[in-house]
Amino acid sequence: MAVVKSVCYVIKTFTINDADKVAVVLTEGGLKKSLVAKNGARLKSAAAGKLDPFNFIEAEWFEKEGKKLHPLNSAAIKKSYFKRISGDMGRFMAFSFYSELADMLIHSEEGSPKFYRLLTHVFDFLDENDDLKTATAYFMFWSLKLLGIFPPFENCAACGKSLNDAAGVGFTGEKFCCSACRPEAEPLPSGVPERLFDMSKQPLSGLSADLESDRALVTLCNEIFTRFTGRETKSFALMLPFVFAGA
Ligand SMILES: [Zn+2]
Repeated sequence: MAVVKSVCYVIKTFTINDADKVAVVLTEGGLKKSLVAKNGARLKSAAAGKLDPFNFIEAEWFEKEGKKLHPLNSAAIKKSYFKRISGDMGRFMAFSFYSELADMLIHSEEGSPKFYRLLTHVFDFLDENDDLKTATAYFMFWSLKLLGIFPPFENCAACGKSLNDAAGVGFTGEKFCCSACRPEAEPLPSGVPERLFDMSKQPLSGLSADLESDRALVTLCNEIFTRFTGRETKSFALMLPFVFAGA
């Protein structure tokens, strides 16, 4: 049995055995872990109020090989977003969506520290900014890119020419091509190819808001996600009208 310590993001929580609280977390190492707090579902428990979704916590737990649930030893709040979002439906919907993506894309065996850093980058940005649209498009695009799901978009998959200066870019459902090579491919809305290049080079703070392109970009990302994983997030359709209102 090993004692493990990490700062973690709480993806979701639920109760088992009537009183025990399970927190599914994303560790700094980019692993998904299920931590169980004995009697944590009771209001007076030390863990109550710490193991809430959207919180960053410092946690210590015991890990035994082959076990899926790890007993929590201690937890302290590092940053609480659970309390801060009360009444802010846009943030609630966006954070729920980020959590669901993390839950679906991240596994317990193979970690992605870059994915954890992406999540903290987005939350840090939103500490100072209200631009949920850019943050959400950036998070979704980079999640898929980091995990190798987003197809290469820099060059045409058919002729190899840079798509940065192509007259039109099309998406075949699997690959990005210039419209000259694949005229039958679904054309990307104007602004989206440029947005992809900008997002792949700039941190969030370096991007200016681009509502139309970001709405088209998240829709494209959602299509790619569904095609690649064969699953759909429940929160995408709920998040869209709240976060991208006015687009
Ligand atoms: Zn081409």
